Amino acid sequence: MPPMDFQPILDDINAQLRPLLGQGGKVAGYIPALARVSPLQFGIALRTCAGETAAAGDSATRFSIQSMSKLFSLTLAIRALGETLWERIGREPSGSPFNSLVQLETERGIPRNPFINAGAIAVADRLVSMGDAKAELLALLGRLAGEPVLMDAEVARSEADTGFRNAALANFMKGFGTLDNDVATVLDVYFHQCALSMSCEQMACAAGYLCRDGRHPLAGTPVLSPAQTRRVNALMLTCGTYDAAGEFAFRIGLPCKSGVGGGIVAVVPDRLTLCVWSPALDGTGNSLLGRRALELFVEKTGLSVF
Ligand code: GLU
Repeated sequence: MPPMDFQPILDDINAQLRPLLGQGGKVAGYIPALARVSPLQFGIALRTCAGETAAAGDSATRFSIQSMSKLFSLTLAIRALGETLWERIGREPSGSPFNSLVQLETERGIPRNPFINAGAIAVADRLVSMGDAKAELLALLGRLAGEPVLMDAEVARSEADTGFRNAALANFMKGFGTLDNDVATVLDVYFHQCALSMSCEQMACAAGYLCRDGRHPLAGTPVLSPAQTRRVNALMLTCGTYDAAGEFAFRIGLPCKSGVGGGIVAVVPDRLTLCVWSPALDGTGNSLLGRRALELFVEKTGLSVF
């Protein structure tokens, strides 16, 4: 692969998109603490497998990573449980909204994949069975980002106060025997993982093991095996961006995981990880400008898995 100077490319994307801030999309309104975030922000950062970095815009501002946390809770669960994790969680795109109850009923409490809310709650239950899940997540992310990462208590409280659908999903799964632990304990972990607060720069570093066959971005030690890493990337590509995963594969062609805080992390296997953030979301719940930024990145660099 020829070396590429990424900094001018990110500067260019930032310059192209910044004038569009405030012109479309909506900040997630259903979690009050997120509804207060200014939509007039855009950040982008990347880290290559060799450790080079580039960043532009609000790349150092911390934001609520929300569903992007599902990548890391899944990583912890795969590390601890290997194949047995899949006895209670599927691996198919859901084709329905991320907080939908309908499929759970027909599929007898087994969530379609680990990236919809029901799936992530089932993963959180597995982590609760193994110990202090919140501390484990914080420790993993701190090690991966190379600096401490925070959980925003206000966002977690806001989620808990308004998380009626998540409580419904958890109770429903408990009724089917998918969850072993107390529903309130599992939801507490889930709400706190969603409330992790990180910058694009931290996220681009932390997700680095996903472009390096599972090796830690800074230390080089194994986080996941190469085979496990391929599977996480496959799930990101097929299930990582809500109901727009097909469109993301079509237009961007990179494994991605988004969150309703407006962040999206993308992996170019064997090359780099990239994180974009802009809080205003499109109708599919993905960051409007974040998605546009990824399209521009692929257009300008030709980097895609296809
Ligand atoms: N905390 C959010 C929820 O459970 C996460 C949603 C997301 O980012 O997809 O509704």
